[in-house]
Amino acid sequence: MKGVFIGLGSNLADPIAQIESAITALNDYDEITVIARSSLYSSPPMGPQDQPDYINAVVEIETTLFAHHLLDALQNIEQQQGRVRDRHWGERTIDLDLLVYGNNILDDERLQVPHIGIAERSFVLYPLAEIATDITIPTMGKIEQLLSNCPRDGLKRVE
Ligand code: ATP
Ligand code: MG
Ligand code: MG
Repeated sequence: MKGVFIGLGSNLADPIAQIESAITALNDYDEITVIARSSLYSSPPMGPQDQPDYINAVVEIETTLFAHHLLDALQNIEQQQGRVRDRHWGERTIDLDLLVYGNNILDDERLQVPHIGIAERSFVLYPLAEIATDITIPTMGKIEQLLSNCPRDGLKRVE
């Protein structure tokens, strides 16, 4: 499967190193090849404000895994990097979200694809646009259009 995009976020325990480790861990799966990656970005937290800023990135992968098996792989990497779920949208060592899985639309109790937050989240849209300049996201539309409706909201590219 091509046209698969993963959103990464971290705000604990050396966030840049967490993002780099997760990209390496993804590519270490025989069934996954990372074919593009965005720059790193920093963003203010969503949800609880008493937590550090985030580092974010988006990668494009090619994979032979079906979407639910890919989610298993993402959650395994989160576990390996010590992800603890304490509070909704709270601080985390790593979050790996399946943003887009080709043209597929999935909606069950475990997986919603395209990821529901894409259009409102500058920390997803801007890095995604960097590596998917012409993408049309199923159910959401063209990336230029989505970007024009999404202020940067404190998002900064990390040098
Ligand atoms: P958000 O999904 O709003 O970004 P979050 O990433 O903090 O919040 P998590 O705690 O990482 O949420 O995941 C909660 C659940 O979301 C997971 O157990 C998973 O089953 C479900 N989920 C649904 N759709 C997706 C998706 N596209 N990618 C990753 N997880 C998903
Ligand atoms: Mg998330
Ligand atoms: Mg998540």
